[in-house]
Amino acid sequence: MDTVLSIKNLSKHYGKIKALDGLSLDIKRGSVFGILGPNGSGKTTTLGMVLDVINPTSGLFEWFGQKSSSATRKRIGAILEHPIFYPYLTGVENLMIVCDIKGVPYSRVDEVLEQVSLGERKDSKFKTYSLGMKQRLSIASALLCDPEVMILDEPTNGLDPQGIAEIRELIIEIANSGKTIIIASHLLDEVQKVCTHFCVLQRGRLIHNGLVEDVGKGSLSVEVKADAE
Ligand code: ATP
Repeated sequence: MDTVLSIKNLSKHYGKIKALDGLSLDIKRGSVFGILGPNGSGKTTTLGMVLDVINPTSGLFEWFGQKSSSATRKRIGAILEHPIFYPYLTGVENLMIVCDIKGVPYSRVDEVLEQVSLGERKDSKFKTYSLGMKQRLSIASALLCDPEVMILDEPTNGLDPQGIAEIRELIIEIANSGKTIIIASHLLDEVQKVCTHFCVLQRGRLIHNGLVEDVGKGSLSVEVKADAE
């Protein structure tokens, strides 16, 4: 497996607060990589830096073996927070606007709506969507450019159990379609259900990096549960 994202000694300090403190990490192509940690552990800061939204205090990262650029950015689809869709426009209309912004043909709209199981509701106004459907529309929006990597920050936050199950199933389907996925989550359960690899952050520091299938072996399960739940 080749490396899609390589992070070397990445830090972000806000005055005395070390939001991220010397993170080094490689994420391999084809993996579903979970960044696990409690609130305030540095997950969003990490994603913000690798997406060029937050300037690192120090350290480096490379996407696809290259310095981050508009060319590498086009290969990544990200949902960092709830995107702003127009409530009185339909799912299709909202995604057509995203197509205009991103220079994607409208023919992709129906494809991605089918992919996220919103085909039947594509002509309903966004404001009538459940939270889970809104999140699936966000994922559809990120899929429009057919990115190689998808980044999802707390993708099931605020959803009911059915919505959570649907989003997790969708993430697994997207991974099975060949995309690398990076998920920030504070839920060990979520990471165990959808991820192949994961790391644990605590107060900005990496305290574990390994395979999900190894959770429960040795002292790891105790350590992660105490920090993440
Ligand atoms: P959450 O799930 O709550 O977003 P997180 O793991 O994503 O948590 P971050 O949002 O990355 O954590 O925050 C890490 C630390 O950095 C926290 O202590 C937070 O208060 C601090 N922090 C983040 N952004 C800023 C900022 N702009 N100014 C000052 N401190 C910040």
